[in-house]
Formats: sequence, structure tokens, C-alpha cells
Amino acid sequence: MVSAPRFGPGHRILVTGGAGFVGSHLVDALVARGATVVAVDNFVTGAKENVAQLDDNPLFTLVEADVTDGLPDHHPALRERFDAILHLASPASPKDFTTLPIEILRVGSIATMHLLDRAGADGARFILASTSEAYGDPQVHPQVETYWGNVNPIGIRSVYDEAKRFAEATTMAYHRYRGVDVGIVRIFNTYGPRMRPDDGRAVPTFITQALRGEPLPVHGTGEQTRSICYVDDLVHGILLLLDSTETGPINCGTEHEVSMRELAELIVSLTGSRSEVQYLTRTADDPEKRRPDLSLARQRLGFAPQVGPADGLRRTIAHFSERIG
Ligand code: NAD
Repeated sequence: MVSAPRFGPGHRILVTGGAGFVGSHLVDALVARGATVVAVDNFVTGAKENVAQLDDNPLFTLVEADVTDGLPDHHPALRERFDAILHLASPASPKDFTTLPIEILRVGSIATMHLLDRAGADGARFILASTSEAYGDPQVHPQVETYWGNVNPIGIRSVYDEAKRFAEATTMAYHRYRGVDVGIVRIFNTYGPRMRPDDGRAVPTFITQALRGEPLPVHGTGEQTRSICYVDDLVHGILLLLDSTETGPINCGTEHEVSMRELAELIVSLTGSRSEVQYLTRTADDPEKRRPDLSLARQRLGFAPQVGPADGLRRTIAHFSERIG
């Protein structure tokens, strides 16, 4: 079990993908702890506005760079030693799998190696944001970390699934053979403010359509399930892993499973929309079921998600309402 935070005031922490959805919430939490945080992002799917609240905060620096090229040494904030490196950079939505396939493969492979080299040189703890997609279309339910997965290595989703599986293998090799202090978190579907409304993931798509009074697109029968985790809970889990000495991989998410049809109906009801659910053709390799087994996260990290779907969705809807107007 974890006791006092390992990382806080006086520590320098690098967050790749720090201007993205999850990265920006993580950056907020680390700065709130008093850590000095450098976010590196090339804004391929993230946005400066996600960290605009930290513009005048002396603990925070945002550097625009593609981490696939390694960390640029011309920027002073990147020259000094880091105590921890959290690698979140990667396009992650199903839409990105077809629009940014090579970028996803490069950031999961080449960038992960560059960052692990740096973690080794700095003696920094390295956290890899991996994914439930490492399990592919799972044949074991709920998914436990010891399950090796069922991934189509040449399918549409393979650029993401295999990039993350490669990143996990690389992280473990640097740990085993170069002694780097690492932690791998397998993140399950997470939602919340700052998601891109058009990123193709179910929650932002359903909320946007409901707020516009347009049909909510559900693929197949809508009986396929996901366990959706509110971003604050995920960030808490990542910080627990960061502060621990656990290597992982450790699942992070919620065990509350919801079908796509139920999710669409809940969002229609919470937004007070008159939108209807529209059933479309099922997409290729779309997993049938997804739910983490959180036993390891509970035992090793004391992780317990706090925010239920109705509460989290209300907060997310409030954020989207402001933007959609
Ligand atoms: P996101 O697209 O909002 O964030 C990714 C960030 O990385 C963006 O700001 C993007 O601009 C940046 N980025 C991408 N390639 C880069 C590069 N080469 N150099 C520098 N910056 C780069 O996605 P997210 O949902 O916040 O996901 C963050 C991480 O968590 C990803 O690694 C993703 O695979 C992982 N993850 C997320 C979920 C989820 O449900 N949100 C689930 C599983 C895993």
C-alpha cells in the first residue's frame, strides 16, 4: 500500500501529451500538489486552451514539440533533470486510428524509447499510459492483468493496440535490463471535461448530439458494454501508481459496466434532450465487452473510484453545454 506521496513540492515532472484530455487534468493535479511540471505536446489532438488556466503559474511550463523526435535540448525547461516522466502522448480515439495511424505507431514506439532513455539517464520514475485496448476484443471477462489479450495484429485498431503493446514491452525491457523505475497503467474508457466533441468516442459524441437535438449514433445492437471512468478518478489512480513502487501493468477505471444503448439513453435523459437513438452498422473489431478487474489496483494502490456515471456525466454535460451554447 502507498503512504505519503513520493512526488510533490521540489520535484520536476515531465508530462508528455500534457495539453490533451487526460494529460491536462493530470498536470492540474500535479501543479496543485506543488510539483514543477513541464508539459510537452505537439497539439495533434490536444489544445493549448486545456492548460490555459496554468499560463501564469510559475510551476508550469508548456513546450511545443513532437516527442517522437526526442526531447528538444534547446528548451531550458527540458535540460534539467526530471524526477518523473509520465508518457501520455498518443492520439487515442477510434477516429485517430484511421486519420493518424503512423503517428500513433511512432509515438508508441520511437517516442517511448526516447523517453525511457531519458528516464534512465535522469534516474526518473517512468509511467506509461497504456490501455485496455491491450486486451483487444477480450475473451476473458472482466479483464485481469494476467490475461494476454485477443488483438487482431493487422486490423484497423491494430495501430493503437499494438503500439501500446510494444510500448509496454519496451517499458518492461528498460526495467528488466536497464533498471529503470517504471509503472504501467492500463487505462479503461475515461470521460470528462476537455474531451474533443468530435473525437468519435461515445460520451462526447452522445452529449454533443443530445445537446444539438440530433440522433445519437449507436453501433450494432447497442448491447456492447464499456465501463466508463470519470477523469478525476483516473487521475487519482495514475497518481497512486506514480507514488508507489509498483511496476504493473495495473488496470485503472471503474467496474460499473454500461451498454452503449443504456449510455445513450442516460445522456438523453440527463440533457433533457428530445434526440432519438439511431442504430448503425457495427464497426470492425469493436470489442463486445470491456470491464476491468480492479482487484490489483485496490490491493496494491488502494484505488477506489468515487464518481458515479450520473454525477460524472452531469459535470461533463455542463462543460460541453458552455461550448456548444
Ligand atoms: P488526447 O488525444 O486528448 O491526448 C493525447 C495528447 O498527446 C494530445 O494533447 C496530443 O496532442 C499529444 N500528442 C500526441 N502525439 C504526440 C507527439 N508525438 N508529441 C507530443 N505530443 C503528442 O487523448 P487522451 O484521452 O487524453 O489520452 C491520453 C493518454 O491516455 C494516451 O496515451 C491514451 O492512449 C491513454 N488512454 C486514454 C484513454 C481514455 O479513455 N481517454 C483510455 C486508454 C488509454
